[in-house]
Amino acid sequence: MAVPKSKITRSRRGMRRSHDALVAANPNECSNCGELKRPHHVCGACGHYDEREVVALVDEIDIDEDAA
Ligand SMILES: [Zn+2]
Repeated sequence: MAVPKSKITRSRRGMRRSHDALVAANPNECSNCGELKRPHHVCGACGHYDEREVVALVDEIDIDEDAA
């Protein structure tokens, strides 16, 4: 097993961790429903992308529950 040769100082550890911060998401408004959505992703609220419906929502699909 590899073993560190010497202690990482508080300074070195802090320098390493200076790049570890998370950045906040940058949501855009959906052009169809106005809900906030991730850029370049299908809207999770209405299933639209680029003003077209590309994903049908579950409550819009007529599911026959007796068939199952
Ligand atoms: Zn939408």
